[in-house]
Order: sequence, then C-alpha cells, then structure tokens
Amino acid sequence: MCGIVGVFGTLKASSEIYNGLFAIQHRGQNGAGMYISNGDSGKLSKGSDLVGSVFNKQILSELKGTSGLGHVRYPTIGSDNFVDAQPFVTHDPIEISMVHNGNIVNYPQLRDELDVELESECDLELILAVFSQELKSEDNIGIDEIFSAVGRTMDRLNGSYSVIALIPRIGMLLFRDPHAIRPMIYGKRITLDGISYAVASENIVLDILGYEIMRDVKGGEAILIKEDKTVIYRPVRPEEPKHCMFEWVYFARSDATIERSNVYESRLRLGEELAKEWKKKGLEIDVVIPVPDTARTLALSMAEYLNIPYREGLLRNRYVGRTFIMPDQTSRETAVRIKLNPIIEEVKGKKVALVDDSIVRGTTSKKLVNLIRTAGAKEVHFLSGCPPIRSPCYYGIDIPTKKELTAANSTIEQIRQKIGADSLTYQSIDGLVRGLERQKEGLCLACLNEDYPTQVREDIRQYFGECREKERRAVFANSNL
Ligand code: SF4
Repeated sequence: MCGIVGVFGTLKASSEIYNGLFAIQHRGQNGAGMYISNGDSGKLSKGSDLVGSVFNKQILSELKGTSGLGHVRYPTIGSDNFVDAQPFVTHDPIEISMVHNGNIVNYPQLRDELDVELESECDLELILAVFSQELKSEDNIGIDEIFSAVGRTMDRLNGSYSVIALIPRIGMLLFRDPHAIRPMIYGKRITLDGISYAVASENIVLDILGYEIMRDVKGGEAILIKEDKTVIYRPVRPEEPKHCMFEWVYFARSDATIERSNVYESRLRLGEELAKEWKKKGLEIDVVIPVPDTARTLALSMAEYLNIPYREGLLRNRYVGRTFIMPDQTSRETAVRIKLNPIIEEVKGKKVALVDDSIVRGTTSKKLVNLIRTAGAKEVHFLSGCPPIRSPCYYGIDIPTKKELTAANSTIEQIRQKIGADSLTYQSIDGLVRGLERQKEGLCLACLNEDYPTQVREDIRQYFGECREKERRAVFANSNL
C-alpha cells in the first residue's frame, strides 16, 4: 500500500506536496519522494524514510515549480531499497514523471515481454515503461494519442493502479485501473492566483490543502488536466467496480471518505455488526477494550450497542510505527511490546472483550491476549472487525502468503486456542458488507473469499509468494548483521 499526491497549477507545489504527504503518512512509512516541475522540466527528490526526515527546508526551497507529484512508500512487492522509491521519470519519447498506488499482478510476464532494462523492482517503473512504449508507437503525441496510449496500457496491465503523471507542456494525467481497486480522488481550487487542481489517495489531502472535492476518479477512466486548466474525461476501459474493503476496515484514515462512504461512519456500523455477531454467543463481558488506534471506533459502537462500558485499556506509544506495516517478524514482535501497555486498573478482575480490526498471522493477537491476561483480566474474549483473512492480497496490501495466514490453515476454534482467548468472534462477510453499506458485487473481498477481481494465475501466486519469502529472509538476515 502506498499514498499518492499530485498538484497542478499552484504557486506552492513543493510545500503542498509536502503537507499532502504528511496527511497520508499512514499509507506508507518506508520511503517518500516528490517531483516538482516548472512546466518545462523538473527536479526529483526521494529517500527511504518518513516524510519529515526525507525533506527539509533546504530541499523544499530547491524544489521550485507549479506542479508536482508525491509518494509515500510501503513495499509489498519489490524491495525496501531507495531505487524502488517513487516518483519515476522517463525522457523517452518525452518527459513523463509518474507515481502510483497499487500492484501489478502480471509484473513478471510484462517485465519479460518488455524490451527495456528496468533499474528497479518497483512496478511503477514497469507501468511507465509500458505507457512510454505505447506513446512511442503513435506518429505524434497529442491529446487523443495520450488517451489511446492509456487504453492500450490498461489492456496490458493486470492489477490495481491509481496513477498520476505529469507531462510537460501537456498537463497532469490521472488514470485508475478498470475495477477502481485502490482509491483516488481529485479536487479543484479557485483563488486570486487562478485555478489549480489536486489529486490524492484520500480526500483528507484535498481538505487540508483547501481544494474543493470534485469526485473519485472512476474505474478505467483517464482524466487529463491540460495546461490551460481545461479538463478532459474519458472512460477508457471501465468495468464493474471492486473497491478494496480493507480501505474502510483498516487502512484509510478515519476522517477520510472513500467512494462517498465516510470511513469513521463505516467503522461505527462495523462495530454494530460485530456486536450482533457477539450477541449470538450468549456470553457476558464487563468491558469493551479496543486495540488502538484503528479498532477504537469499532469497539466504541460495539460497546454502545451492547450497553457495556468502553474503556481504553491499552495505551499506545504514538511514536512507534503501525505494527501491520513493519516489514519483518522481528521488528513486529518487538514493536508490539514497545507499542502497547495495559492499564491494569481497567482490566484487573474483569471479563474483557478485546476488539481488533483484523487478525492476519495471529501472532500479534496472541501477545495482546497475553498482555491483558497478565494484567489481571478474569476472561479475555477476542473480536475481529474483519472476517477471517484466508488468502493473500495481490493488489497492494501486505497480506502475506497462505502459509502465514492463520485463518488459511486453522479452524476458528484452533485460532482461539492459538491466541489463548476465552472466545473468538469474527465479523461475518455479510455483516461486513452491511456495515460498509455497499453492494457486495462492488467490493473486492478476495482475501476473504478468493474471488479475485482479475485473473491471478497459479504461477503468479507462486511468484509473489516466493518474492515475499525472499524479502522476509533478506530483511531478517540484515537485521542480524
Ligand atoms: S484482496 Fe483484500 S486487501 Fe487486497 S484489494 Fe482485495 S479486499 Fe483489499
């Protein structure tokens, strides 16, 4: 998962990209980059760290221009290296700078097919190479040719991709995969300085920068914001939407609104649905405690629905990164201990309902149950706001191989025993869909039901499994140096 930002026609491109990236830092913490253009040429700056560490006043003052792209990186496929950090820029056949959020499923086939040397393992470099190749096949490069090239690029790509590109003397180009798996929204601002546009993974960027929301970019759509600020929309390869349910469950910021559904309100409804599931068990609890931060909203509405006290029984050290996106097992385990500490007075002698947004490997859940139990809880009942995750994600979320997914290999009773809880309650898929207030057909639920929105061949599944294994081994080896 990554986060992207683009601005066009503003006098403060670098500071807007910088502030925008800060707003979506939760989408990736392994790298940050920006490309700022003055309309003719541009300058690139990127690094493998948090936004606040990669950029400083000096760097920002040297990035002068009226348009820009920004990216925060969270590696799923590809290495954790600087060379994989976005944006990428090509000058063949013309200058094009690009960022994207998503994952290309047919990466290995396309890489073999392409007659170009790629410098990185980042799939954006591949998208850029395919798009450039398609542009090169045109006799000249005008508006129609750009849209045709986007269409042919989409024909060759399989996967999720929300892309922003800057093309000097032409404009800012946006396009999103046919199923609109990863989010992308754009907005407009009119001031005395003129009209400017911004686009981002989440609307919070546009809100913070003072842009009025226009709308989500549609699946299979391409939008070109031209130099003269006129906008051209083309439904290039639209198909049935399959928005990633995990954006609402876990990934997006609570104050974001994705595809017109507010994330906070969705999480409140998911809490009610989880409470209904819990009631079927006929068990008693004294207190509802969330695993901070993403499960707070869920636990709050669950407690309200059940009329049971809600308490903050785990204190989170806010200076430690999110457990889920730590790239290796060692740091994940250490992070849990550093990150969360129980408030003994809130749990001692009580029957605790411990609520988390999801269970992936189950190792974190086990530690949390143990933390609450050793703090003196009489009973610990574990609840997951997301149904059992049984299959990997090939669209940009770090949901690992089947081997590592606890729900892919165990029954619910076995998971309960493994994590050491007195009971275990999962959200149902129907409860999830009701809570999100969306049509089931319009969601990607593939990590729950294996119904992938695009074809994922067996050899591809194996390839990505091996990549993930290799990356984990490399990170583990490095961590022991
Ligand atoms: S497989 Fe799961 S995490 Fe991946 S895009 Fe689909 S719903 Fe989201």
